[in-house]
Amino acid sequence: MNQKLSERATDFVVDARLGSLIEDGTPDPGRVRDIVAKSLAKRALSVEETAVLLRADDPALVEEIFQAARTLKETVYGNRIVLFAPLYIGNECTNDCAYCGFRRSNTEAIRRTLGEAQVREQVIALEVKGHKRLILVFGEHPNYDAKFIADTVRTVYAVREGHGEIRRVNINAAPFDHEGFRTIKESGIGTYQVFQETYHHETYARIHPRGTRKGDFLWRLDALSRAMEAGCDDVGIGALFGLHDWRFEVLGLVRHALHLQERYGVGPHTISFPRLRPASGVHLDERFLVDDRSFMRVIAILRLAVPYTGLILTAREEGELRRAAMSFGVSQIDAGTRIELGGYTEAGDAQCMELEQFELGDIRSLDTVMRELILDGYIPSFCTSCYRLGRTGEHFMEFAVPGFIKRFCTPNALTTLVEYLVDYASPETRTAGETLVAAELAKLPDGEQKAELLQRLARIRETGDRDMYF
Ligand code: SAM
Ligand code: SF4
Repeated sequence: MNQKLSERATDFVVDARLGSLIEDGTPDPGRVRDIVAKSLAKRALSVEETAVLLRADDPALVEEIFQAARTLKETVYGNRIVLFAPLYIGNECTNDCAYCGFRRSNTEAIRRTLGEAQVREQVIALEVKGHKRLILVFGEHPNYDAKFIADTVRTVYAVREGHGEIRRVNINAAPFDHEGFRTIKESGIGTYQVFQETYHHETYARIHPRGTRKGDFLWRLDALSRAMEAGCDDVGIGALFGLHDWRFEVLGLVRHALHLQERYGVGPHTISFPRLRPASGVHLDERFLVDDRSFMRVIAILRLAVPYTGLILTAREEGELRRAAMSFGVSQIDAGTRIELGGYTEAGDAQCMELEQFELGDIRSLDTVMRELILDGYIPSFCTSCYRLGRTGEHFMEFAVPGFIKRFCTPNALTTLVEYLVDYASPETRTAGETLVAAELAKLPDGEQKAELLQRLARIRETGDRDMYF
């Protein structure tokens, strides 16, 4: 089945072509500016145009690209940042990916799979901190089949602690066939993420041994196409930066996004760009590690290349870098993150490398990250409205609908923020948050919708009503 399905896959990544595009010489500044202008007009860039931005090494041009990404972020997306937390369910794995602490040959790893009661315990610990959106993460193992994943999703949704509930469960797990994706979709998931890790065939083959399931490049490349065909129209792509040339990987991501857009009429909902982190027993070639400035370029250029796609920056990165990178158009971050199995109830201040896939850079609490975002002028949001109202896929992209963010996203973000401030925030965060909410409300035009929003916020504070959304 696996073999047959990977044979049907279209290999839309031509290494020689992407390689030659990043080696094509220093671009003319006028051409760079034309491409930036196209992006500021909210038009997606081609692979060739993205390559021009990647080849613009001149510091002044790089600054212009950074500035354009900031402008696009401000004018198109506004100042909301969506927050989520990862929940690792099991680290059994039959693959042997060279970079990962869970790989099967790592004898130092302590193997664990959370049972139903333990999943509930972790979810309660997340709910009492204020989380509403989770991503469940799994190794690739026969024990973690589609039914197991679907059952785990249902368990998570059923946990209610006080005013707490998880309103959106996303998944990061191995690729399935159509039937598997259908089974998982039926449990009510949001986004299904599969990262290609590297789009460079030779590198992929070197670090994913043949004979393992993940060793099949095409099976993985075709995963989200199968997901789309099985009805999961909300998918996330990603590359693990540090395995091959970062410019090549950016082109791979853009190529993948365009492929999905062309074939299914809808691009990926999100792009992830994790950077390689130290992991238990991992000793990797450091040739392609991405320095901070280049990483910022990755984010800014992705922002410009795919104006309608959410960008996720995880707690792999340190707090200071996350704070600086936010302005280039990141739309989602995780916070209060622990990735040790059972980490939300058991982990102390230090990380346990044998129980986690890699080391995190930012393990500050959700409340601390919320306060920092608020003081920096962002509206932290736990909104889950769109997918619950069926606003996903071909007919919908929130950023593409004129006025949508002002009419729906900002009011929903403020509603979920006030829920957080009332139910979970520390006194300092609540004070900072209330000031921000007042300032944001003052910016909204008067009218029926604002009156309705004010009424809802009063209900949250006074009557205990929750989960209202536009
Ligand atoms: N086992 C599934 C898979 O491989 O698709 C689930 C994903 S894995 C648990 C989540 C992601 O973590 C991987 O896709 C990879 O990109 C990333 N990852 C693995 N090792 C890493 C490391 N050392 N540093 C940073 N990210 C890493
Ligand atoms: Fe397993 Fe995923 Fe780690 Fe590879 S990246 S060893 S598939 S958990």
